Amino acid sequence: MAIPFFKEIRIGGYLIKQKLLGRKRYPLVLMLEPLFRCNLACVGCGKIDYPDAILNRRMSAQECWDAADECGAPMVAIPGGEPLIHKEIGEIVRGLVARKKFVSLCTNALLLEKKLDLFEPSPYLFFSVHLDGLKEHHDKAVSQKGVFDRAVSAIKAAKARGFAVNVNATIFDGHAAEDIAKFLDFTTELGVGVSMSPGYAYERAPDQEHFLNRTKTKKLFRDVFALGKGKKWNFMHSGLFLDFLAGNQSYECTPWGMPARNIFGWQKPCYLLGEGYTKTFKELMETTDWDTYGTGKYEKCADCMAHCGYEPTAADAALTNPLKAMWVALRGVRTTGPMAPEINLDKQRPAQYIFSAEVQKRLSEIRRDEAAAAAAKQQEKASTAA
Ligand code: SF4
Ligand code: SF4
Repeated sequence: MAIPFFKEIRIGGYLIKQKLLGRKRYPLVLMLEPLFRCNLACVGCGKIDYPDAILNRRMSAQECWDAADECGAPMVAIPGGEPLIHKEIGEIVRGLVARKKFVSLCTNALLLEKKLDLFEPSPYLFFSVHLDGLKEHHDKAVSQKGVFDRAVSAIKAAKARGFAVNVNATIFDGHAAEDIAKFLDFTTELGVGVSMSPGYAYERAPDQEHFLNRTKTKKLFRDVFALGKGKKWNFMHSGLFLDFLAGNQSYECTPWGMPARNIFGWQKPCYLLGEGYTKTFKELMETTDWDTYGTGKYEKCADCMAHCGYEPTAADAALTNPLKAMWVALRGVRTTGPMAPEINLDKQRPAQYIFSAEVQKRLSEIRRDEAAAAAAKQQEKASTAA
């Protein structure tokens, strides 16, 4: 297993502490996006559609460490963009590991082999490599041939150097259950764990045709899990989250469980949905109107079953109902019989589209900061010359 056992103990301990302290909302994983720039342009990606001035921005190493301290979650996932493009990525990861944070560095792996020297194997660090399926499928999903082979080669190289590696797969409509099952067999042969989540229907993703709705998601995962009976696929998820994907649990999302910090600030309400930003984590927790988000409450949440919204719900459910969690762990995910009731969408509020206004606001801020920096430089030059 790619993740050390003591990680489970530490995170379990953290969860129990939050419960004992009576905290209603607490973070489990910080989603840290130090840049949006990527060296791929996947058709299902909703993260990179920004003007160059924004794609060129980076969070500094200090800002990344401050975010981790401020949030206090025991785990930090670093997606992007492509984090390995960030010049200070080695330093950022070192600082987080020194803080005893479990770091999941999410990468498309194009630069991984070349950059392995920046990192040291540690029980606190694991690489989470983006693989959406087997060769043909993955290369199509990332719109570039040869990426699958390079990612697999990087995974082998990282493992050979003693790094913990797993893969993360985003599942879209049109991916047959049999092919997903073959992909999972392949990850077992490769000796890596897998996290798997239905793709969130990003409004800015180039391909809007292939996002799964909740009914299709549940049917697909039931079919996949049915094909996996008796196999030893190594999922990096809790049993109850997998049970939710198979339609056996009616969960509401926990958007604060995986809060997102990026170059704009703390993102409201979650990693998937950018509906405004705050300067501090405290402000995010206190000023977000949490009750207006989630499936059945907001149109943009209608089809979401993504792990960043629902894995924290499943973790909380396992604490409140350990017997149920144990039952699923022992018996596996149920793949037949009636599904749990679906959330009613009749009363959801309509979507608000604020992306363009938000981008314009950020661009003016960037121009203002650049003008101020240029003026300061000019002044410094003038005073040196005088
Ligand atoms: S690798 Fe990730 S961040 Fe880059 S384009 Fe693909 S989905 Fe987006
Ligand atoms: S359902 Fe929850 S996790 Fe999903 S987009 Fe909406 S607020 Fe975010």
